[in-house]
Amino acid sequence: MESSGAMTLNWVFYVTAAAFGAVIGSFLNVLIHRGPVFWKLVDDEKRGDLISPRSYCPSCRKPIRNIHLIPLVSYVMLGGKCASCSAPIAIRYPLVELAGALSGLAALALFGLSIEAACVFIFFMVMIALAAIDAETGYLPDMLTLPLLVIGIIANAFDFLNATLGGAVLGVIIGYGAFRLIDIVFLKLRGVEGLGQGDAKLLAAIGAWFGWPVLPPVVFLAAILALAGVGVAYMRGATIGKETPIPFGPALAAAGAVAMVAHGLRLPYFA
Ligand SMILES: [Zn+2]
Repeated sequence: MESSGAMTLNWVFYVTAAAFGAVIGSFLNVLIHRGPVFWKLVDDEKRGDLISPRSYCPSCRKPIRNIHLIPLVSYVMLGGKCASCSAPIAIRYPLVELAGALSGLAALALFGLSIEAACVFIFFMVMIALAAIDAETGYLPDMLTLPLLVIGIIANAFDFLNATLGGAVLGVIIGYGAFRLIDIVFLKLRGVEGLGQGDAKLLAAIGAWFGWPVLPPVVFLAAILALAGVGVAYMRGATIGKETPIPFGPALAAAGAVAMVAHGLRLPYFA
């Protein structure tokens, strides 16, 4: 057999990667739901413990049967409703599981069976969790952004990723510094925070993974995505004023994921 490279991997690998990604995605849903309470960012005792194993319906609090824990499949089988009380299951659950499956596929297809692919999968998972948590709570937890930053530095130090160690360290400094600077200027001019501390830490982490040169296109793309998000919200009837907070985190996380795909495709600027 003449076969080499990632694209000729047996289809069994791809199915396994997608299934694995979906399963990790369903764990992410638990993290997204309970993490903000566990990390004391929001106050909601009912959400339960981060480490308690059983998943339950947030509406009727009945434990979810094992057969209904199969990612994606169970959502379709149940018609998007809880089996006990028929409360609608938030669309976030299947979306995160789907994103997990696509992440597994993308990491394998773009990077083959490699340590880099495993790192990239972790990157995608953290981006998904951060985007969902920021959208739901307005926070980008340090418990996710800071480990992501450290993993990026270590992976680049060991050459598992593409940036030089110096470029990665500069990426952290410039990424964090640029957003903090914008914040200070905003605070001086308008008396409000333009960007949160969490946004600065997330950009620093992205800098740690890609190196500083990738930061400008990532921020540019994130700004476009954030504006698009505001546009969609406006068209769906939301009132947008000067004081309306724009959650920049989900846009930044999405831009980071796009940059990773661009890197995997060896696009000129991102190769
Ligand atoms: Zn229920």
